[in-house]
Amino acid sequence: MELTSQYETFGISREVAALGKETEESLRDRFAAIDETAEYNQLKVIAAMQKNRVSDIHFAGTTGYGYNDLGRETLERVYADVFRTEDALVRPQIVCGTHALYTALAGNLRPGDELLSPVGKPYDTLEEVIGIRPSNGSLKEYGITYRQVDLKEDGSFDYEGIRAAINERTRLVTIQRSKGYATRPTLSVDQIGELIAFVKSVKPGVLCMVDNCYGEFVERVEPGERGADMVVGSLIKNPGGGLAPIGGYIAGTKECIENAAYRLGSPGLGREVGASLGVSQSLFQGLFLAPTVVAGALKGAIFAASLYERLGFSVSPAAAEPRHDIIQAVTFGKPEGVIAFCQGIQAAAPVDSFVTPEPWDMPGYDSQVIMAAGAFVQGSSIELSADGPIKPPYSVFFQGGLTWYHAKLGVLMSLQKVYEAGLIREF
Ligand SMILES: *Cc1c(COP(=O)(O)O)cnc(C)c1O
Repeated sequence: MELTSQYETFGISREVAALGKETEESLRDRFAAIDETAEYNQLKVIAAMQKNRVSDIHFAGTTGYGYNDLGRETLERVYADVFRTEDALVRPQIVCGTHALYTALAGNLRPGDELLSPVGKPYDTLEEVIGIRPSNGSLKEYGITYRQVDLKEDGSFDYEGIRAAINERTRLVTIQRSKGYATRPTLSVDQIGELIAFVKSVKPGVLCMVDNCYGEFVERVEPGERGADMVVGSLIKNPGGGLAPIGGYIAGTKECIENAAYRLGSPGLGREVGASLGVSQSLFQGLFLAPTVVAGALKGAIFAASLYERLGFSVSPAAAEPRHDIIQAVTFGKPEGVIAFCQGIQAAAPVDSFVTPEPWDMPGYDSQVIMAAGAFVQGSSIELSADGPIKPPYSVFFQGGLTWYHAKLGVLMSLQKVYEAGLIREF
């Protein structure tokens, strides 16, 4: 059987398949470089597992308080080695990325301290954590203030503004690696390193935390190797490799991790408690797969950028730009494009392919939002997923794909639907 006819069974026309093939061929060198980074990171993960003598006994779970959970303790040492930090907290009790970030912040800040973001507005959910938007239990309610310095027009750091914003109360600096759903560029690990060095030159002893969501394994270095005191992320994104059913991680200095652990548990109940409930094997195995999963997701993002750029749509990052996270935005300028794109992603899913996503009024958003996800793990965004607010400029944000082939199918299905919606004049 020919590959094209296999795609035809999904309703993908020969023209779309041919454009996909041509685009893929043009990306051969990029893909080879991505594979080499995956290979590098694969070796990094295996070395950490070998060093910590990962064994069958580490896959057994504990219950109740979870004292002496060998699997949990070993997994945390493996994470610390992979992220090149002194220590790590990796737990199924951490509900998601936002919770991991909150735990890291709340554990290390005290009333009267100030938190600084030198890279502009943080991810939406952090606004409530910090209290930028009034919220029950925010850091603000506990007397922790917040200051923000925006990036300059060209996306670079406003060093003078940052210097002026650091004061005697500045205790912690939060740096978001991925642009998330904002329009600023994503930061490379080296850029983050320069920022950390600057901040510490102005005020030695200030803590630097990196929100590493969507960035893990995209590069060969992680922020802990460039001076970050804490590196934080979600296990249903990159480092969970698609297998982690839940969880988050905080990798960092011994002291920061200790402080975070007491916030996750309670005063007096630190990292020695927290049953792993039998999920350790999935967390180990997911981490093991994560470098190749991230490579597949990256190829999907670059493939989409190249295809849509060729057809005249504006994409961010641009097709040829270096990558520091797995998110791709495509701007359609019309609601129909966002809707068709998401419906194509949904139609390519292994789970729930039969449902048709529609825009709806989501709590907390000022416009309707459409989301596509056909995931094995609810809300997992290392799995192929897309969403977009139904408002100008009508951009869709898409990420993930546990395999490159699935990401490719999703992108081709999206293109087919966008074509059928009449948004492409000719190929
Ligand atoms: C996803 C994400 C978060 C929040 O993670 P959740 O798991 O959705 O709570 C925070 N920051 C960034 C940059 C993210 O991409």
